[in-house]
Amino acid sequence: MEEIKRINEEKKQLKGLTIKELKNFFFSIGEPSFRGEQVFNWMYNHLVTSFDEMGNIPKVLRQKLQDKSFMMTLELFDIKNSVSSKTRKYLFKTLDGFLVESVLIPDEERVTLCVSSQIGCPLDCKFCATGLMGYRKNLSSGEIFDQYLLAQKNSDQQITNIVYMGMGEPLLNFKETLRSIRIFAAEKNTNISLSKITVSTVGIPPKIKYLADSGLKVKLAFSLHSCFEDIRSSLIPLNKKYSLTTNLNFLDYYYKKTSRRITFEYLMLKDINDRQEDIEALIKLSKRIPSKINVIPFNSIKHMNPEGLSAELEPTSLYRIDEFVTTLRDNNVSVFVRNTQGDDIAAACGQLSFDGNVLTPLVNFTEEY
Ligand code: SF4
Repeated sequence: MEEIKRINEEKKQLKGLTIKELKNFFFSIGEPSFRGEQVFNWMYNHLVTSFDEMGNIPKVLRQKLQDKSFMMTLELFDIKNSVSSKTRKYLFKTLDGFLVESVLIPDEERVTLCVSSQIGCPLDCKFCATGLMGYRKNLSSGEIFDQYLLAQKNSDQQITNIVYMGMGEPLLNFKETLRSIRIFAAEKNTNISLSKITVSTVGIPPKIKYLADSGLKVKLAFSLHSCFEDIRSSLIPLNKKYSLTTNLNFLDYYYKKTSRRITFEYLMLKDINDRQEDIEALIKLSKRIPSKINVIPFNSIKHMNPEGLSAELEPTSLYRIDEFVTTLRDNNVSVFVRNTQGDDIAAACGQLSFDGNVLTPLVNFTEEY
């Protein structure tokens, strides 16, 4: 850790920098600024992992870069392949020793990479393994991008979509999340366009507004899980600070600014949110905001030995999910069911929480949100 700290102080981290920042860096080391554009292209488009691979950079300058900067923020630590599906979980190690998980989910139409934005999460949602592990740190935009780079280099399929639904609440790490989105979607860069990026949030209204006003027009997924304030607050403690009513006003604003339909994520929890009154509330909600509902079978988090409400949560039966979805569709609600993929490798939705991080200290999240 001390060694990494020393390198960080002495060398400039290039991964995560924009074209403009890279040009400034080259200017600061006495080199022409067009080199910044070349390095940008190598890092984010060609996905190189070392300066030696940068063919149009002179050897002497490559050595200078080696001495003054670095660009890889993660190393591949492990890959787990699901036996029951094509889902694959990647485990990466940050330079300061934390473990980050990303999940590759191929289906017939797309290959989606679910990236993490934080190590752990301070928000303590009762259905979520990441929440149960507590908060360790925010990831940098370079660390977010390198999850994609290393997953792409270690997959024979072209990644087509990015979802910010791995470990962490992306809007709590707003600056770095936004910076990484801008890098993904920069001109000439990757195959990922803004319409292929989804940010998932439990609801931080001021940040939803910033995102709407940013002009990025990414897709927004909102973790709904109940239309009733009291039930939602028991599942998502943040709902006590930012109520569903407040969030819905901002989601409305997001739709008006971006013309992107909101995705409401809805984890099916037995006797908690799978009742007739929940169906009626969802029908009403879908008439209010242009949206679709993503019904998600609940994946057990019993491997985390949870306490309290988390220990009591049970999945809704597949029969009831079918009934629930059919009734919604009969009432013209746009709804799709996310198949559980990767639960055999703890890579399914809400299950990400690498045990190795338990060895690293918990940290208080002190930023305003
Ligand atoms: S669901 Fe999202 S916001 Fe809630 S604890 Fe898990 S990672 Fe954090």
